[in-house]
Parts: sequence; structure tokens; C-alpha cells
Amino acid sequence: MNYKEIINNLKPEAIISLMEKLGVDRYSDRGDYIIFPTICHNADAEEASMKLYYYKNSHLFVCYTNCESMSIFKFLKEYYETRSIPYNWYDDIYKVILDCSSFKPTEGFEAIKYNSLSEKYRTRKQEQVLEVYPKGLIDTFIKEYPVEWLEDGISKKAMDKYNIRFSIPQNKIIIPHYNVYGDLIGIRGRALDPEEVETIGKYMPVQIEGKWYAHPLSMNLYGLNYNKDNIKKYGICYVGEAEKFCLQMEGFDFPNCSVAVCGSQFNKYQLNLLLKTCRPREIVICFDKEEKPGENKYFDKLYNICNKYKNYCNMSFIYDTRNLLKLKESPTDCGQKVFEELVKRRIFVR
Ligand SMILES: [Zn+2]
Repeated sequence: MNYKEIINNLKPEAIISLMEKLGVDRYSDRGDYIIFPTICHNADAEEASMKLYYYKNSHLFVCYTNCESMSIFKFLKEYYETRSIPYNWYDDIYKVILDCSSFKPTEGFEAIKYNSLSEKYRTRKQEQVLEVYPKGLIDTFIKEYPVEWLEDGISKKAMDKYNIRFSIPQNKIIIPHYNVYGDLIGIRGRALDPEEVETIGKYMPVQIEGKWYAHPLSMNLYGLNYNKDNIKKYGICYVGEAEKFCLQMEGFDFPNCSVAVCGSQFNKYQLNLLLKTCRPREIVICFDKEEKPGENKYFDKLYNICNKYKNYCNMSFIYDTRNLLKLKESPTDCGQKVFEELVKRRIFVR
């Protein structure tokens, strides 16, 4: 992918115009950099402080309040997640960024023109029909067990069950996404190239012959097609962030009752999907550890998710008070013992 050329050819005027479309009402162009309100982590642009800098030379955003340094790819992801906007990586990140860059890849790109992105997303309907792809597409990738995942507690058996593949040219672990019925609805890749991870992120959709196999992640639950019977039978569902969460859980010696949201939000659509399919008695939010010492923002976020849905189902969340996990680690990253310890001390919201 030509992400470096895309980023290196970002035009400052296009960045300003994009930010305005995203709802920014003021900015200050200081020559080498432009200062914007911190809409990355603040849903309300008017209330955000002027601490988000865009540096014209490095093409990086730096949020001096909360989010630190990020490429435009990571910035947009943050923007959508802050607002719980259902986004599609290809349409809402990749194409938007291409529109701000003077670099144009030859294939797989049509120009788009939004008058107001924030308007578009405010009015976007949650319910969309997801495209179903031929299952055989996955067979264009080879079967290989990446060392990175084997070392991360993911067994070969788990990778077989979830139909994990590998792409040598893209240097990515290939992760097929199925809906609850087992139809193929998207293909994501876990990047192994450190530079790609740093700039764009670990996970993104995969491109095959110029076509992107992206889907709105907020409209599905990864792993539900495999684990729905267990969730129904045992009455509990563990909701994690990344696909890896479900795969690691596969190695534990109790039935796998996990799904992954593939982001850091759990929305009403996903709740309904889970309730309709499995009717669990309890949903346990098992998100990655994010809290910085002395803060409680992350606690509040998890509490609020549970509080919002407590009338539909018993809700609880994992919160690591004993420092069993390092920052950014998932509750399943340190094995079954640690996971069980965290679950034992989970917080119920009633
Ligand atoms: Zn920020």
C-alpha cells in the first residue's frame, strides 16, 4: 500500500478544509503548523481546547492534551470512535485521506466530495445491509501459523477454527470476518510491518486485486458465529476488543463464550444482535487496559457502557485494580489464570 506517499503529499489547505467538514469552527495557521481544537477526543468542537497541532513537515497530528502523536489515519479513527460513529475503513478513512492528498493511486480510487462530514455522520443510519462475499476468497491466502501469534498464546487449533490465513506480499495475518450465520462479510489484516503498525494501525481491511474488503465493524460481533451456542448454553458473554481476544480464549480450558467488537465501543446494535441470538444472562465487558495512573476516564467509560444497557441484561466489566496487566494489554494477554482473576473481581453495574 502507498500510505507513505499518501501521507507525504497531504496538502495543508485540504487538512483545514477536512477539519472544517469535521466540525471545527476555528483554527490558527502558524506557518510550520496549524492549531486546531482537540476534536480527536472531544465530541464537542466548541468546548475543545486549542491543543491539537498539525505539523506540515512531518504530516503528523499531535494532541497535547490526551492523544499524543498520530498520523491522519489514526486521527480519523479516534474522531469516529470518540463519537461512536459507525465507520467503514475504506470509505470513511482511506478515501477521505486520499481526498486530502495530491498523490493518487492508479487503481481502486474514485474521488469523493462531502459538503459536511459531520452532517453526513450525524444523519447516517445505523442499519445498513452488509455485503456478503464468496467464501472461497479466503483461499487466495495461504495457510500458515504466524510465529507472532503462536508466541502470543494463540494455538494452531484456534487459528484453524477461525480460518486464519497469511499474506506474504502484504506481510499480514489474514482474519476473515463472518456474520452470525457464517457468511463472509469482511477481511481484515493484522499488519506485521512495524512502520505500517505505527502509521496506520495494527488492524485494517485487506485489499485483493484492487478491491477493499471492508465492512462497518460496529454492525457485527467477531466470533459470534463460532461461539453463539456456548454463550447460549452458559449464559455469559465476554466482550473483548480485538479478534485476538476470541482466539486466545480458545486456548483456555473452559468453553469459549467470547466475541470481539474490533474497536473500543459496544453499541446498541451489537447488544441487540447478542440478545437476539443468545439471550445471555450476563455480558462482561473485557476491554484493553487504558487507564493512566491517577485517572478514572477509562473506568467511567466502561461504567457508562454498562450503565446504558443494564436494563437489557446484567452488565459487568473487567477493571484491573491489582496491576496484573500492563497498559494496552487485553485481559486475555497474560493467560487463563490472570483472566480468571480479573473476571473474579469484575465490577457489576446494577
Ligand atoms: Zn486528543
